[in-house]
Amino acid sequence: MPAKIIDGTKVAAEIRSEAAVIVREVAGAWGRPRLVAVMVGDASAARAYAASQRKQCDLVGIEYRLQELRAETSAVDLCGQIDALNADRAVRGIMVHLPLPAGIDPAEIQLRIDRHKDVEGVNPANIGMMFYGEPVIAPCTALAVMALLRESGVRIEGAEAVVVGHSNIAGKPVGLLLLNEMATVTVCHVATRELAGHTRRADILVVAVGKAGLIGPGMVKPGAVVIDVGINRVREVDGQGKPQERIVGDVAFEAVREVAGAISPVPGGVGAVTTAVLLRNTAEAARRQVVRMRQ
Ligand code: NAP
Repeated sequence: MPAKIIDGTKVAAEIRSEAAVIVREVAGAWGRPRLVAVMVGDASAARAYAASQRKQCDLVGIEYRLQELRAETSAVDLCGQIDALNADRAVRGIMVHLPLPAGIDPAEIQLRIDRHKDVEGVNPANIGMMFYGEPVIAPCTALAVMALLRESGVRIEGAEAVVVGHSNIAGKPVGLLLLNEMATVTVCHVATRELAGHTRRADILVVAVGKAGLIGPGMVKPGAVVIDVGINRVREVDGQGKPQERIVGDVAFEAVREVAGAISPVPGGVGAVTTAVLLRNTAEAARRQVVRMRQ
């Protein structure tokens, strides 16, 4: 029987509803929470993401401001902008669109964001709390993966979980969150020998690499829950011989669907949920700031 499709659109709508409830609570006394997204230069993927953020913020009542800076902006200037946003009492959440121009170290900028306003969960202080098993704000993509796992109904405690990819924004935090929920976690990367030997053991397989078709059906344990984080643009030729572009994940979806127990699609999986998590993180950050101001 083909795998159950884990519906990211539905999960995203539920998370947005949670965010909207918090926003209403905060807005009553302190006005709509404001999220400022900083974009340096003009990357088309970041622009598309910003447009989607604005639309979704409107849905839940968060005020979204995109602060666009010239591609020539220096690291010093960008740090100055972040400092100003940190000090601005009207701003509840700050996020920085990647990629940044060459010469600006994203880690330096992420360290600069006030941890209480760091709604992407990328400041080392927030990452550290995740390490202690008490995340205050965790990275959005990792939380999106966990939300999809919950939707799948899989029992995480005691499960063999394999994460492919060890980036700071996806693979590593997913591994930590799974460990915090008592899965037995293996994290694979570019130096892993015999990747399939690991993935075939997984009850839960999370793939965050950025290589279309990396995971085929022979690499998946029958009945496993597969979460595909990858976003890849592939060029194909349609039935009429016309070239076209399509977005796919890292998992060969149709073939793996015949083996897995549940699978998240691309699009309509992790990506759909990630932005909703950003809004919930913003709403929760706003609520915590309001509580701190009252104390
Ligand atoms: P990244 O920083 O490039 O990391 C990719 C990871 O995959 C690295 O840890 C890399 O290892 C590892 N890797 C590369 N080739 C491998 C192989 N053959 N076998 C095993 N591991 C391999 O990318 P990222 O930012 O984590 O993003 C990964 C993918 O997820 C991309 O397609 C991205 O667009 C997508 N993404 C989606 C969302 C979402 O919300 N849906 C969010 C973030 C990212 P080394 O570092 O050792 O080379």
